[in-house]
Amino acid sequence: MLPRIVVMGRPNVGKSTLFNRLAGRRIAIVDDTPGVTRDRKEVVARVAGRDVLLVDTAGLEEAPPDTIPGRMRASSEAALRDADLILFVVDVRTGLTPSDRAFAQWLRRQGKPVLVLANKAEGRLGAANSLEVYELGLGAPLPVSGEHGDGFGELHDEIREALPPEPEEDEEDDADRPLRLAIVGRPNAGKSTLLNALLGEERMITGPEPGLTRDSVAVKWIDETGKPVRLVDTAGLRRRARITQALEQMSTAATIAALKECEIAVLVVDAVQGMDEQDLRIARLAEREGRAIVIAFNKWDAVEDRAAARRKVEDVLTASLAQLRGILVVPLSAATGKGVEKLMPTVREAYEVWNRRIPTGALNRWFEDALTRHQPPLVEGKRLKLRYATMPKARPPTIAIFGTRAEMLPEDYRRYLVNSFREAFDMPGVPVRLNLRGTE
Ligand code: GDP
Ligand code: GDP
Repeated sequence: MLPRIVVMGRPNVGKSTLFNRLAGRRIAIVDDTPGVTRDRKEVVARVAGRDVLLVDTAGLEEAPPDTIPGRMRASSEAALRDADLILFVVDVRTGLTPSDRAFAQWLRRQGKPVLVLANKAEGRLGAANSLEVYELGLGAPLPVSGEHGDGFGELHDEIREALPPEPEEDEEDDADRPLRLAIVGRPNAGKSTLLNALLGEERMITGPEPGLTRDSVAVKWIDETGKPVRLVDTAGLRRRARITQALEQMSTAATIAALKECEIAVLVVDAVQGMDEQDLRIARLAEREGRAIVIAFNKWDAVEDRAAARRKVEDVLTASLAQLRGILVVPLSAATGKGVEKLMPTVREAYEVWNRRIPTGALNRWFEDALTRHQPPLVEGKRLKLRYATMPKARPPTIAIFGTRAEMLPEDYRRYLVNSFREAFDMPGVPVRLNLRGTE
């Protein structure tokens, strides 16, 4: 989730002006609801080098100066609830008012991080008049001018300091880290033959070594692209003395274990027989585990009508594996070695896609466009209001979509969004996860 920064203060202190300047590099308008009592603006913006959700509460506070009536308190509390940081704005030209003091007192009780902005402090007014603002007991005020931009460098710095740290990426970005590969497929598709072709003795870095799980074994080598690969496999490899002998006929359990351990799966398909239900089942297992897949369309040497074979596999993939649309297919012959050299570069390509992160700005431009082209459907007579998208993680690509009752989005619209995303960012052959997060 994006950090949430809420701009608060009594009317006319300059909240909207500040908000607009801060949101200058705004990415998406999340909510812009004009109303009699409520005019809340939310945008995704780049502030202090981070994507944040910026909330303007101008209009929340049509209140008499010295009290905070219930209506206002309720809406302020709502605005505050998920805030990570509050920018509390006062006007140093008019000086502190009883309303500012009441607001400050109320804010102190909320126990949220607050940055006090002494606004309208352009020119020489700044430092002098902001002294008074210390009295609010909310820490050192920062003199700024929303209208002229004075103090915004410091403002960004202070916001950066005050925000919770960015979540740790759970991925290792080490380029030398071996890609974890599994070779899966039904019996006799040619897995062992392919492994032999890939793994000339001379390429091996180490002999079989223990894998990540109890029964698994792994082997490392340097592939055609000059980068290390770690082939993961289960029990079968352990029982055999030499890795280059046949892989065990994989049971479903063994296949799942290998898929859990790998990042990318090469699904070996017998091109003479074509892609059958068993192949599809393995592909769906890989999809379920969130893995990228490349299809090694093996025994290409023995295929008579290649054009027909190609057409057929494309048809099967389109009809039965839509969730991995655009999956890459490499025709090759493990036995003769022809075409094998194309496999690892293709695997690297899929790996890159699987790891790819889309910046929030580009993501939301796509999102707005996708929503415009196809409005979200009515659910129970009401249109769902989808607000913005983030990409909380890659590996596999995962989009989070926030909006009112977003979780009620029907299946076909979810599919539309996923496919549109895949097309917009050219992400073939990887599973794409969609998380829907309902907000009020
Ligand atoms: P809000 O009601 O708190 O959202 O305040 P607005 O942003 O609408 O601003 C209220 C008034 O203050 C407007 O007339 C602005 O032009 C003026 N104003 C806003 N920021 C500044 C500033 O930095 N300096 C000066 N001198 N005036 C400002
Ligand atoms: P696995 O059970 O998936 O490990 O399959 P194998 O590697 O043991 O191969 C099964 C059979 O297919 C063997 O008879 C191989 O010789 C044959 N085979 C494997 N690759 C090819 C190929 O590229 N072309 C042809 N014509 N036969 C192959």
